[in-house]
Amino acid sequence: MSTETLPHPPLVENPMASHEQVAAFDQTVMGTYARFPLTLIRGQGCRVWDAAGKEYLDFVAGIATCTLGHAHPVMVEAVTRQMQKLHHVSNLYYIPEQGALARWLVDHSCADRVFFCNSGAEANEAAIKLARKYAHTVLNIDHPIILTAHSSFHGRTLATVTATGQPKYHQHFSPLVPGFHYIPYNDADALRRTVVELNQGQQRTAAILLEPVQGEGGVRPGDRDYFQLVRQICDETGMLFILDEVQTGVGRTGKWWGYEHLGIEPDIFTSAKGLGGGVPIGAMLCKSTCDIFEPGEHASTYGGNPFACGVALAVCQTLERENLLANVEARGQQLRSGLEQVVQRYPKHLAGVRGRGLLNGLVLQEGSDLTAAAITKAAIAAGLLVVPAGPQVVRFVPPLIVSEAEVAAAIAALEQALATLIT
Ligand SMILES: *Cc1c(COP(=O)(O)O)cnc(C)c1O
Repeated sequence: MSTETLPHPPLVENPMASHEQVAAFDQTVMGTYARFPLTLIRGQGCRVWDAAGKEYLDFVAGIATCTLGHAHPVMVEAVTRQMQKLHHVSNLYYIPEQGALARWLVDHSCADRVFFCNSGAEANEAAIKLARKYAHTVLNIDHPIILTAHSSFHGRTLATVTATGQPKYHQHFSPLVPGFHYIPYNDADALRRTVVELNQGQQRTAAILLEPVQGEGGVRPGDRDYFQLVRQICDETGMLFILDEVQTGVGRTGKWWGYEHLGIEPDIFTSAKGLGGGVPIGAMLCKSTCDIFEPGEHASTYGGNPFACGVALAVCQTLERENLLANVEARGQQLRSGLEQVVQRYPKHLAGVRGRGLLNGLVLQEGSDLTAAAITKAAIAAGLLVVPAGPQVVRFVPPLIVSEAEVAAAIAALEQALATLIT
């Protein structure tokens, strides 16, 4: 990648370029993240720069959030305008931007109502509470069970980390929240068996929570047949079908929502990551049939404030106006076919490619001594940012504005990175 001198000084003085600056950071910031030794100080479109002026192609996009890339003029405008006008007042009052964003979301999905919050975990937390209230008041279930999938990811709050079907995230946090049961993803027989077994006892299945494509758990797309069977079982038993669209939503898969690929509609779904284009916002959306929260039952101080909603609306309208779903589809195909050619070159190390739209994973071969983290590090050296999705999958989630030339450059940088690792 080429380097470039910076036209502007960084806004924060400390560029984290020296060992001393990194040590000072680690002394005050909790060690919850295993960071790569990289500090980014500027971005433009699908490119970002570090303090030394080295340029990177950003196929992480803040972990599938910066849908319009960096410093997009529409976002700069929306952020500035909204901040000058009004940014936060609380939900004690009516907020026109919240109403306008809710209208856009309802018009572009199967949902009738929206609750706003600030993150994916918070949106899933709201969905879990709504499903429990529905179980108690509509289904008459005293001990409701929510089914979730192995390898799923739903967040880090106590309830959403319990919902997350990966033991590594549970360690040291017991007692976990009761009322969750895990099933294999995309396994119709296991689901039928589990629903029958659980419903013989005291407890009963009240809802199932799934990702349309499992993101953090390794980029596993949901099977159409499976999701249709889930819908059928929910209709037969009265269970609610909840989708976690935090990573898949707002165009990431080439449609507005991941469920559109699966030929079903959920009762409840959640959104966050891409919704604000990198400005924090989350949403829980539902059909009018489960719109049963009453005043005081759920809330969020920041949820749906004028700033976040004004910016998110500008992001959504830009995705629509610039027909970026078509770009997601085309660039996704280009990326997958490029990655497949790379896989063919290294069959001992790479097993394949999976994903939808611009949520894609390069899957390592069982038994290969390569890891997703090692490839990610080598890619950084080659000027490409990617993000592991588990130890065996390298994830590619670029901004939805990514160009044909940028996808081609990313594949070339990946090849360069692999060449340094595989001799
Ligand atoms: C990232 C993610 C979450 C958690 O979102 P946060 O904003 O980090 O709380 C939940 N579900 C899925 C599918 C995600 O990808």
